[in-house]
Amino acid sequence: MSSKKTMTEEIKYCPWCGKGNFRIWGAPVRGFKSVKCNSCGLIFVRNRLNQNGLTNYYKKYFSKVHQADDVLNIQRQRMYQLEFKLINRFGKKGKVLDVGCSGGGIFWMFLKIMDTGVMG
Ligand SMILES: [Zn+2]
Repeated sequence: MSSKKTMTEEIKYCPWCGKGNFRIWGAPVRGFKSVKCNSCGLIFVRNRLNQNGLTNYYKKYFSKVHQADDVLNIQRQRMYQLEFKLINRFGKKGKVLDVGCSGGGIFWMFLKIMDTGVMG
């Protein structure tokens, strides 16, 4: 299979500590396998979507599911605003890691308002 048609990529090293020893964590969800790093304990999806997979996923997901309902979009934006205020009120200044960030909607507030690094 050519790399253009491949939808996933296998993560060989922990994104946090860079080590390469993992153990299976939980049951696969829709074919995505989670592992726990034996060195630092980070849990992450080992066979994540690659750029091609992300493009295909979000092309369909955002237009057909995630942002198809205007009322939910307004509610979601309000939720991001509240979360942003809460994080800034109690959190320390620095880079932001959002585990389970979906499309990264709250990231735009950190980028636009705080001009800080984000990862999700
Ligand atoms: Zn690690």
